[in-house]
Amino acid sequence: MGMKGRQIVERAGLDVDKLLNLLNKAYCDEWLAYYQYWVGAKIAEGVLAGPIAAEMMEHAKEELEHAGKLAGRISQLDGKPILNPADWYKECNCEYLIPSDPQAAVLLRQNIASERCAIEVYENLLEFIDGKDPVTEDIIIDILADEVEHEDDLEQLAKAVPGEVSDGKECSKKR
Ligand code: FE
Ligand code: FE
Ligand code: MG
Repeated sequence: MGMKGRQIVERAGLDVDKLLNLLNKAYCDEWLAYYQYWVGAKIAEGVLAGPIAAEMMEHAKEELEHAGKLAGRISQLDGKPILNPADWYKECNCEYLIPSDPQAAVLLRQNIASERCAIEVYENLLEFIDGKDPVTEDIIIDILADEVEHEDDLEQLAKAVPGEVSDGKECSKKR
């Protein structure tokens, strides 16, 4: 842990325990996003399954990197990343959308909804940080930029998929 590193955040007037809670909730989202992409890529079916699965696998890798960045920052702030995967489901902000329909078009729609939720999560984190913790802020901005790219990548792919694919949720945020 970084004693001084945590102190400067506290002195800036940020509730570090609350920040740690928000970072840990996002950490749960990242693991679930990773798995939703990873397992979806494994089962994808349909004409465009190849390129869609390739993009999903790339995104899976990036979600795992996000989890790593969050875990690193949580530790620096003297917190602990959630240790029991059973808690991921309870603590996450975004619903895990079970890829029970292997059609690539449906998988795309689900993952777009998840990216939109992720964007909201990081937007809310930036709002909470309110410029008081530039180190965490930098990490969140990097992750947010990836999520915005992910949403756009999937929206572009969805345009290439024939037929209507808009029967799913627009955003997977738990309400
Ligand atoms: Fe992510
Ligand atoms: Fe993403
Ligand atoms: Mg991409």
